[in-house]
Amino acid sequence: MGKLPIRARVATTLGDAAGKVSRLTGRGDGSVIGGVVGLRVAPDLLRQLAAGRQIVLVTGTNGKTTTTRLVAAGLGALGQEVASNAFGANMESGLVSALSGAPDAPYAVLEVDERYLPMMMKETSPRVVVLLNLSRDQMDRAAEIWLVARRWREAFAGTPECWVVANADDPLIAWAAGTARHVTWVAAGQRWHEDSWCCPECGSHLQRDELGWRCGECGLSRPSARWVLDSDTVIDSDGVGHTLDLALPGRANRSNAVMALAVARFFGADVDQALPRLRSVTSVAGRYTTVERRGRKLRLLLAKNPAGWLEAFDVLEPDGRPVLLAVNAQGPDGRDTSWLWDVDYRVLRGRPVLITAERRLDLAVRLEADEVPFDVVNSIDAAVDLVPPGGLDVIANYTAFQQIRTTLGRTT
Ligand SMILES: [Zn+2]
Repeated sequence: MGKLPIRARVATTLGDAAGKVSRLTGRGDGSVIGGVVGLRVAPDLLRQLAAGRQIVLVTGTNGKTTTTRLVAAGLGALGQEVASNAFGANMESGLVSALSGAPDAPYAVLEVDERYLPMMMKETSPRVVVLLNLSRDQMDRAAEIWLVARRWREAFAGTPECWVVANADDPLIAWAAGTARHVTWVAAGQRWHEDSWCCPECGSHLQRDELGWRCGECGLSRPSARWVLDSDTVIDSDGVGHTLDLALPGRANRSNAVMALAVARFFGADVDQALPRLRSVTSVAGRYTTVERRGRKLRLLLAKNPAGWLEAFDVLEPDGRPVLLAVNAQGPDGRDTSWLWDVDYRVLRGRPVLITAERRLDLAVRLEADEVPFDVVNSIDAAVDLVPPGGLDVIANYTAFQQIRTTLGRTT
């Protein structure tokens, strides 16, 4: 902190004070308001706080918060402090709070909203940028995510010293990273193909087979990956296999872990030392947490968009246990629920399905169309009372998830 100019020091002190007030008055975890106050006093605070540190930025439509957590855990193997915005506050003020909260940390792993990546790259001069995936969030249109990818291309073209760790299986990500000088390609998989039927370069139809994807017109094709996920094994860039054995469930999280290991290796960490730290991550801001409620074990899954719902279905226990779906349509969720029609619910057939939250009737119509039987309930506790003792998986979109978390008592 001593190296910061006086104005920045005052700004971080004021910001910390505002964050404390926000926490004490129960208005939030303080991670945004502190940054907002600090930035008002010193608009270039983020640049000053980032200077001299090894910064990793993590972005993409899905998995940002979890991957940020995993990368931070993996870098812990280096034995030095790692700053991070662990609670998903991913705009400028959230980044400021994360860095001012750990002024001496030589490393920082920061989740960044995908639309803000170019600006945050300018501010923080990251050593590494991690690109996970790009798909429609709520009601974005395909043209909008293509525009996001195009801005990333411009940003990478202007920062040849930046190292990119990118998912080779997502055509839009591969195209976006195509202007970067240094890329470590990771075969992180792509379950959701609906937003990438067309070549991002020329617009032709993409061909897919077991080797990946390619465009028959312009020749854009899946880059060959240095890091590969094969079931529960990660093959590192030297061709050595390691068992992942994570506490976090699902293929999407295994992919996130491979990205995290690639970053840890980049900074010189040993994969076998980073792996146990990844395994110690059991929940991320309430996600994947198991909560006891009236003799039932509830597991909470967050799914904010069509691709996220597919990933959540992938995580459901194969034992046919009941699942509760909760959908709201408040500001952060997107007001329009027509995206519900992009998700294929037929995988839920054969297990008891309950639906709740503000837009449960929209969901009811959708499930009806997919011939998935369901019960409508008015609250999480009504759902708990309706299912037999045992497990209940809960999939909720953003504000529905936060409401359930509050009802259950702040889960971690
Ligand atoms: Zn093409």
